[in-house]
Amino acid sequence: MTTPVAVCWDIDGTLLRGGRVGGEVLRQAFLAVAGHEPPPVAMGGMTDHLVAEAFRDGLPPQQAEPLVRRGTGYTRAMVAAIAREWDGRGPELAGVLTVLPGVCEAVGLLAAQPRVDQIVVTGNVRAGAELKLTVAGLHPGPFDLDAGVYGDLPGPRSVLVHAARDRLERRHGGPVALVVVGDTPRDVEAAHAAGAVAVGVATGAATAAELEAAGADHVTEDLSDPSALVAIVAAEGEDPHHTRGSV
Ligand SMILES: [Mg+2]
Repeated sequence: MTTPVAVCWDIDGTLLRGGRVGGEVLRQAFLAVAGHEPPPVAMGGMTDHLVAEAFRDGLPPQQAEPLVRRGTGYTRAMVAAIAREWDGRGPELAGVLTVLPGVCEAVGLLAAQPRVDQIVVTGNVRAGAELKLTVAGLHPGPFDLDAGVYGDLPGPRSVLVHAARDRLERRHGGPVALVVVGDTPRDVEAAHAAGAVAVGVATGAATAAELEAAGADHVTEDLSDPSALVAIVAAEGEDPHHTRGSV
């Protein structure tokens, strides 16, 4: 390989499924911050920061108004409350969490590749990401959690991939090819907006056809053939420009 490659893993629906625990964490955080139930929100592929905004914006105007008046204080309070809500939820999560097919093998194979970093680029706040990966048996392991990018950042999901690129290119002192692995059209769009290759895995919220329609560069039903992902990553290291940004 000639160029370092960073595999940017989404967590939910890609590495693992965490049941309804994440949704309950968000609900409890909102209850703590707003004092009442959140409105229903389709959360697939959204960052926790975006979910906080969607909760606020989905309320009737008279309920939303006090939260709108708090400005960024509201989203900061939500991010802090979400992190607090994850505290102590390991046993509950362990009862429902499943690691998706081929994930352990894929992560292991990639860890053995030279010049390949593995990070998480996830809508979860770090506390949630770290607990999920720990319960899944994936952390401690090859993921560099300090280099990861989490859902406490404001803005669309592409902000996360841009932040990952900045961080990794500073670390390596030059260009890094990014391969985003995710389960939703939002992962695909975010990858392309930040010049990354998008690998869609249909183990989460979207079907393979939906991921293809979103323009994923590679789509797979699951990771049960982990060598396919390794080959994609190796090809990026050899020629980081041949698929970058293409659909
Ligand atoms: Mg996901």
